[in-house]
Amino acid sequence: MSVSTGASWAQNTGLPALGDGDSISLSAERQLGDRIARELFRDPDYLEDAVLDEYVQQLWTPLVRAAVARGELSAELQERFAWRILLGRDRSVNAFALPGGYLGVHLGLMAVVSTADELASVLAHELSHVTQRHIARGMSDQSKMTPWVVGSMILGALAASKSPQAAQALIVGGQAAAIQNQLSYTRDMEREADRVGYGILVDAGYDPGGFVSMFAKLQQAAGLNDSGAFPYLRSHPLTTERMADMQSRQQLNLTVPKPLPDMAHAMMAARARVLSQSSPDALKAWIQGPASLAASASAADQAAALYAASLSHLLLRDAAATQRHVQALGVLIQSQRHLPSYAAAQRWWRLLQAEVAERQDKPAQAVRVLTPEAGQQTWQRPELMALAQVLQRLPEHALVPTVMAQLRQVVQQTPWDAQAWDRLSAMLSVQGQALASLRAAGEAQAARLDWPGAVDRFRAAQELALKGRLQPGEHIEASIVDVRLRHARERLRGLQAPER
Ligand SMILES: [Zn+2]
Repeated sequence: MSVSTGASWAQNTGLPALGDGDSISLSAERQLGDRIARELFRDPDYLEDAVLDEYVQQLWTPLVRAAVARGELSAELQERFAWRILLGRDRSVNAFALPGGYLGVHLGLMAVVSTADELASVLAHELSHVTQRHIARGMSDQSKMTPWVVGSMILGALAASKSPQAAQALIVGGQAAAIQNQLSYTRDMEREADRVGYGILVDAGYDPGGFVSMFAKLQQAAGLNDSGAFPYLRSHPLTTERMADMQSRQQLNLTVPKPLPDMAHAMMAARARVLSQSSPDALKAWIQGPASLAASASAADQAAALYAASLSHLLLRDAAATQRHVQALGVLIQSQRHLPSYAAAQRWWRLLQAEVAERQDKPAQAVRVLTPEAGQQTWQRPELMALAQVLQRLPEHALVPTVMAQLRQVVQQTPWDAQAWDRLSAMLSVQGQALASLRAAGEAQAARLDWPGAVDRFRAAQELALKGRLQPGEHIEASIVDVRLRHARERLRGLQAPER
């Protein structure tokens, strides 16, 4: 977790660090993580964006797989921890591991990295803080603090890293600053996360140069801007020693030619930029992008500028200009069929087209864009989320049953997919299935760990079942609701009673 502004607690207090003392248990750490994540889910900056979610997930999954294969990630840890990535709309350059296997990634970080490998290198480093249980090791020496207190401290520190004013307020009481220092990793932990993360990155098939260029980028950024806009940097001191470590590791591997920033990544970075800075003034600036490009700009830079301009015009509701830029982006991508990232770029472009059609009230057109193959029965997650969104306005469409069936499959496999539950709930409601819709709404709240919200929805579903005459098949749904309501109430009680 990158929540510190100063030297690490171990140095301040002379307490032992690596490998000493008992760690807190996996379940205690998970509970603590749940408590923190629950607050983050409610943060207005928390973003559920199916496109960016998938992009990060695509980078993250091979890293987790490599960590398992290398024996860094035990089956138990994999089973007990959440392994969920939360995106924050925040424009500061930051990523942090939280207790219990939650990871926070700011859009500001996605916006500044120039290759997928660079982003993967940050994720690998943070993943290693989790697999090496650095958080638990740090907390074992603070046994006097209940997880409740530690949770509030971490939330306070995260808030502080977002707002300079809040940081000031927090630091006014010297005690708060001292607490913040206690939450940081030791230098040894940082070095270990670099070493383990590097191995995971290479095994996962990424260009190890990503680690080195990310370091260089952060260091350069620090030189340019020391205003605190780079909290990741502050908590990850870039000593020359760490740089040298990285470079020597890099030389052990055969030098891979540095990949050019690819078009698909550039489009995702552009999306992150626009969504993290979307005031009208910022949008107007993104619109200027394509015109201010140098004639020699790479295809990736052009794609980024056109993507950002398309999305900005869309958010500013200029339909004609949106259309022009989306078309220009399509032409550009078609001219780059030889690039390895062509297919991915093509796909992000199609999703952008669907987003445009949906926002411009053309649901049928969005469906056509999202279903390029006749008779298609399954979709990847971003396409499925987009389809479910537009089909709410086309309740008679032939694809409705197919899409609902796939949504049901998704929530069965990944019950923590809150967005999928939301979409399913909305579609069920349009189809007149009120009981199932209320239950799905409750599941969406449960997936965001919002237990009061879940209890509220499940109770509404239960009341409906008691009052109304149940249709065939709804008896099963009603009994599931009873079980889920009991579970949600138990979790709510657990929330209200801080454990010792
Ligand atoms: Zn670190």
